[in-house]
Amino acid sequence: MSRTLDLSRRPAPLPGPRTLAGLSIPALKAEMESLGLDPKQAGMRAKQLRRWVHHFGAREFSVMSDIAKELRAVLADKYVLDRPEIADHQVSKDGTQKWLTRFAPGVEGESVYIPDVGKAGALCVSSQVGCTLNCTFCHTGTQALVRNLTAAEIVQQVLIARDALSEWPTSTEDRLLTNIVFMGMGEPLYNLDNVVEAIDTIADGDGISIGRRRITVSTAGVAPKIPELGARTNAALAISLHATNDDLRDQLVPINKKYDLQTLFEAIRAYPDLGNSKRVTFEYVMLKGVNDSLAEARDLIRLLKGVPAKINLIPFNPWPGSPYECSDWETIEEFAEVLNRAGYASPIRTPRGRDILAACGQLRSESVKKSAAEKRREALEGAADQGA
Ligand code: SAH
Repeated sequence: MSRTLDLSRRPAPLPGPRTLAGLSIPALKAEMESLGLDPKQAGMRAKQLRRWVHHFGAREFSVMSDIAKELRAVLADKYVLDRPEIADHQVSKDGTQKWLTRFAPGVEGESVYIPDVGKAGALCVSSQVGCTLNCTFCHTGTQALVRNLTAAEIVQQVLIARDALSEWPTSTEDRLLTNIVFMGMGEPLYNLDNVVEAIDTIADGDGISIGRRRITVSTAGVAPKIPELGARTNAALAISLHATNDDLRDQLVPINKKYDLQTLFEAIRAYPDLGNSKRVTFEYVMLKGVNDSLAEARDLIRLLKGVPAKINLIPFNPWPGSPYECSDWETIEEFAEVLNRAGYASPIRTPRGRDILAACGQLRSESVKKSAAEKRREALEGAADQGA
């Protein structure tokens, strides 16, 4: 005889103690005030915690030697320093690493560490799970928005990479992780408050200490938020351009229908402090027969005139069922050559981590597929059980 568990009556799991990992100074201070500390004490404890957690990478309160034992006991009772669960972690032959992080049940976001990018290596972080933008060549665009990530959840992606790279305490020399790019899942400018708070924490010199100059935020073109991003973060700006005329860009990056190229470029020109030492990165995905003609390379140069710019040609990373192909290598090189002659140095981004599906949105989509398959299997087993 088989027994069937009635899962519908299972009580909701009790929320466990919350983690302080990834919290900003204001958030840590608010937590300390919630324990009854006066604002001055709370501010001081917040700074101590920030140093333990984000400089030393502490996982236990017991190591915090400058915090009184009694308070450490209270902290250990109420909080943890855990990172969120890692649902999947893959390491590519070329050193690229990819994490699928489960922030909460059903809320899974990707981050990718790419060696030899930036000063030493860059971590690509997600700002949302899923996306609302529907760019036609992007796999995340096929996935509905689940939710914005919190500032702490964005920072936790950096902590997880630092854990894997064994880069605690924060050092100033020979780091493997030197740059952060907001080029994972989601549109950072639709989650600007959390992105700003996360950047404050990542750039904090007494914590993770990755300088603002080495943090790049990429947007599909939420024009009204672009100057605000610069004013609030001082980060570097990247624009997912992908087309040089409105007709094609309307198709590839549909937010262009709301903010067309002229509006977008007005916003870009208003980005604070642009100059030789601070250029805008323009990302251009190479799609065979769609946007890869040499005439478009020349249009691109015309479009960027007067904007301090770098260009990143991204070979299209195909995903199952994607409606495009990557341009031929020869075409990409010819396109790059036109840009080179106009003074844009080494514009091709080499594809990394192809063996671990490093294109945006792929790991999560594999996981969703798996769990759907698991659900089907469970349903079948359940049906077989009932029939027994
Ligand atoms: N929403 C933001 C950040 C996320 S996408 C933005 O649009 O900029 C990060 C970069 O990866 C963007 O330039 C995006 O256009 C590009 N991208 C997305 N899918 C891709 C794919 N399959 N192949 C190559 N580049 C892709």
